[in-house]
Amino acid sequence: MAQSRFRMRAFADALDMYIRHNDQWEALCDMCGRCCFERELTDSGEVVINYAAPCEFLDLQTRSCTVYDCRFERCQACRKLSPATVFLANHLPDECAYVRAFLDT
Ligand code: SF4
Ligand code: SF4
Repeated sequence: MAQSRFRMRAFADALDMYIRHNDQWEALCDMCGRCCFERELTDSGEVVINYAAPCEFLDLQTRSCTVYDCRFERCQACRKLSPATVFLANHLPDECAYVRAFLDT
């Protein structure tokens, strides 16, 4: 779904923030935790979150990561969010702050 929303201007804005103002980029995440559950992409491009299948490192009460500082070492499925991820990976839900900030919803 995100791929069909690709807009060059928005991608350039996201890339500029990611490179030149990375603290702002990181701060965009509102820690909703939705990307820490298994997800499936439907044929129509909708991201369906399986709330019964959280990452083993997600605290379900707070929706926070229990290994945040070393999450990429501890969890092989965990990926750093970059503009390329947001625009091309298609697996972030519509509620994700990055999707809301940069993609048409
Ligand atoms: S390791 Fe990654 S996917 Fe797992 S809870 Fe932490 S941030 Fe989420
Ligand atoms: S879905 Fe988006 S806003 Fe929510 S925790 Fe993941 S990256 Fe952050």
